[in-house]
Amino acid sequence: MEFDTIAAISTPPGEGAIAIVRLSGPEAVAIADKVFQSPSTKLLGEQKSHTIHYGHLVESDSKEVVEEVMLSLMRGPKTFTREDVVEINCHGGVVSVNRVLQLVLRNGARLAEPGEFTKRAFLNGRIDLSQAEAVMDLIRAKTDKAMNVALNQMDGKLSRLIGKLRQTLLETLAQVEVNIDYPEYDDVEEMTRPMIIQKGEEVRSAIEQLIQTSLQGKILRDGLSTVIIGRPNVGKSSLLNSLIQENKAIVTDIAGTTRDIIEEYVNVRGVPLKLVDTAGIRETEDLVERIGVERSRQVLQQADLILLVLNHSEALSEEDARLFETVKHMNYLVVVNKTDLPGKLSMEDVQKHAEGKSVITTSLLLEEGIDQLEEAIAGMFFGGEIESTDMSYVSNARHIALLHQAKATIEDAIEAAGHDIPIDMIQIDVTRTWEILGEIIGDTVEESLIDQLFSQFCLGK
Ligand code: GDP
Ligand code: ZN
Repeated sequence: MEFDTIAAISTPPGEGAIAIVRLSGPEAVAIADKVFQSPSTKLLGEQKSHTIHYGHLVESDSKEVVEEVMLSLMRGPKTFTREDVVEINCHGGVVSVNRVLQLVLRNGARLAEPGEFTKRAFLNGRIDLSQAEAVMDLIRAKTDKAMNVALNQMDGKLSRLIGKLRQTLLETLAQVEVNIDYPEYDDVEEMTRPMIIQKGEEVRSAIEQLIQTSLQGKILRDGLSTVIIGRPNVGKSSLLNSLIQENKAIVTDIAGTTRDIIEEYVNVRGVPLKLVDTAGIRETEDLVERIGVERSRQVLQQADLILLVLNHSEALSEEDARLFETVKHMNYLVVVNKTDLPGKLSMEDVQKHAEGKSVITTSLLLEEGIDQLEEAIAGMFFGGEIESTDMSYVSNARHIALLHQAKATIEDAIEAAGHDIPIDMIQIDVTRTWEILGEIIGDTVEESLIDQLFSQFCLGK
C-alpha cells in the first residue's frame, strides 16, 4: 500500500515545556531536510536511524529561523507506523508548535486525521485492531489499573488468546473434513460429533471467562458510576468531599460538564469512581430537586453503585424507607454517618431494610470509617483482592458484544452436534464463530468499521 506523508501535533493542546510535531510517511525525512539546519550541516538523509539532532527550523526559501528544535529521526520499519518517522521537539505553546506544523505542511506533508498514525500502524501490519483500540484506551486511562489493562492489550495478550481459540476452531474444522473425506472407521458421525462438542466446549468456556472479566474491564475503563443519595443534612456533601480529598481526583477531560450531569473521578484503591452529579448534590443538596424526578431516576438506574447515607442521630424516617425502596434492586452500600452524635437510629432497622447489603458506620466529622467504606467499595467490585497486573480484562464494548455473539454461535454448534443436525450445518456455525472472533483482532472486519474506529482517536495519535 502506498501512503502519503502525514503530520500532526502529537502532544496535548495548551502550554507545556515542549511539544512534538510528528511526521510519518515516505517523504518524512526529505520534508524535514527542507526545513532543518543543524550545526553539523549534514543532511538528515545521511544520518543514522534512531538518532536525535539539535538544530533550527527555517523557512525553506528565505531561511528565516522559525524555531530551535531537537529532532528525532527514525526510519521504518522499526517505528510506530512502520514508516519513516520524524519527531520534532519544539517549545511548548500554541503559537510555536503551530508554526512548526504549518511549516511542514507548507513543505509537502498533509495534516493527519484523528488516529491516522495508529491506523497506519494497523494497516502496515504492526499492530492488530484490538491493540490499536488499546492505544486509544491508554490515552483515556484514568487509573493505574486501567493503564495496565490497556498495556496488556496493546502487548497483544487478548490477541494471542483470541488467536489460540481461532486456531482450535480451525483445527476442529480441519478434523471434521478429514473424518468426512477419509472414513476409515465405520461411523464418521460417531467420531465427529463428540469431537465438535468437546472442542466447542473448550472454546465456549474460554469465551465465557473473557466475558466474565468484562464487567470489571468496563469499570476500569469508564469508571464506576457512583451516586450518593440521602435526606438533606445527613452528610452527602461531606462524604463526597472526603472521597475526593482522600483520593486525589483524577484529572479528566471527559465531556460531561456541558450537560446537566457533572462527573468527577476519584481513585478508590484502584477502582475508579465516577461520582455522578456531584455538583447537583453540592449546590442544592437534593438530586431530585435539582434535576427532577424523572432524570434522577435515570441517573440512579444507570449507576453502578449507590451510596445511601443515613443519619445516626435520627430515627429511620419514612423518607429513608422510601430511599431503600428505590434502590432495592440496585448495587448499594449503606453509610450510617454522624456516629459521633448520640445514636437514635436503630441498627436493627437499618439491617432489616438493607437486606444483606453492607452497612458502614462513619463519622465524617471525625474522619472515621472512611477506610472501611473504601474497603467495602473495592471488595464489591474486585472480590476484595488486589488483582495482579497481568490480568487481561476485556473492557471494550465492541469486543464484549462480539464475544457474546461468538459464545451464542459456538453454543449453537455444540447443541446441533448433540442432535440430528447435518454436519455441514454445524460446520457453518463453527466457521462463523471463527469469523466473529476474527473481528475482534481486525482479521475479518469491514473497512468502514475500521475508519469509524480510528476516527475516535485524538488528533496526532
Ligand atoms: P448533606 O445535606 O447530606 O449534603 O449534608 P452535609 O454534608 O452538607 O452535612 C450537613 C451537616 O452535617 C454539616 O454541618 C456537616 O458539617 C455535618 N456533618 C457531616 N458529617 C458529620 C458527622 O459525621 N458528624 C457530625 N456531628 N456532623 C457531621
Ligand atoms: Zn450537602
